[in-house]
Amino acid sequence: MDKSISVVVSVYNEEKALDEFYRETSRVLEETGWDWELIFVNDGSADSSLPVLKGLAAAQERVKIISFSRNFGHEAAMIAGMDYSTGEVVVCMDADLQHPPACIPEILKKREEGYEVINMVRTQNRTAGLVKNITSSGFYWLINHIADVHFEPNASDFFAVSRKVARVLRTNYRERVRFLRGYVQNVGFKRTTIEYEAGVRVAGESKYSLKKLFIFSINTILCFSNMPLKLGIYAGIFSALLGLAVMVYTLLTRQGAPSGYATIVVLICFMFAMMFVIIGIIGEYIAILFTELKDRPIYIVEETENIEEAGCGDKM
Ligand code: UDP
Ligand code: MG
Repeated sequence: MDKSISVVVSVYNEEKALDEFYRETSRVLEETGWDWELIFVNDGSADSSLPVLKGLAAAQERVKIISFSRNFGHEAAMIAGMDYSTGEVVVCMDADLQHPPACIPEILKKREEGYEVINMVRTQNRTAGLVKNITSSGFYWLINHIADVHFEPNASDFFAVSRKVARVLRTNYRERVRFLRGYVQNVGFKRTTIEYEAGVRVAGESKYSLKKLFIFSINTILCFSNMPLKLGIYAGIFSALLGLAVMVYTLLTRQGAPSGYATIVVLICFMFAMMFVIIGIIGEYIAILFTELKDRPIYIVEETENIEEAGCGDKM
């Protein structure tokens, strides 16, 4: 095992956080004694993140930059970083120092012990707020009940994988609708977790709004579970039983046609509602199929810095 580490950092409008992040992280990386590279993926930042990164890259050739043509999202940025990474250990982390670089030596120790997947689990997220924390636990509860794989609650986008696992992720998991964290937890291999305390953002603000998180959660459920598709069958059985019960009741009581205008309207509305929801769910799956079928690139690279060979990913 060669002692080299690639740190992948996704950057989206982080101009204020970058200097401090670089100072902290490069110090920790130097201290490990491993051969390191720091891959910054600029995810279409609109502020001066790119010039700041270029400054860092000019002063230190271990700093590499992949710059996207527009914003493709955090996950696409992590995938791009993995595509271009060369290290034996690939660590993905955020640029806002919420993922403490001080954990890196511990990650390397675990890798030396033979672990291939190292999930960082946060013990506490002080900045997230009550709503985010509750919705997040609700989401994990639901997905663990309906998906065929297990998700670590509180796992974050802070994780490390070996070169072998990075290769598996980059070749076999190039889905358009995806949940990278889920794949990392479900590729198998010898894995372990390390606990860390999520810090406070050094500068700037969170880019994940509740709305974004909601869309993300729905996609993840659709991506990892076929259960919603089966709701139609359950609804059908339920309606059939209901019809049967009413039929038996009418026959036994031998009533003629009772005046039941309200009942009929309510039932019709209820049944149609169920039907439309189920059609909607099927529509969501078709939308995912359509997106996958179009096979558009996960990201488009506009320029790179300190990177000679092309990555294995989607490029121009
Ligand atoms: N990020 C990104 N693209 C985006 C949104 C976010 O690359 O479209 C990056 C962002 O720069 C940060 C990381 O993803 O390094 C996590 O984002 P953020 O800190 O806003 O999320 P939170 O920690 O609040 O969940
Ligand atoms: Mg953050």
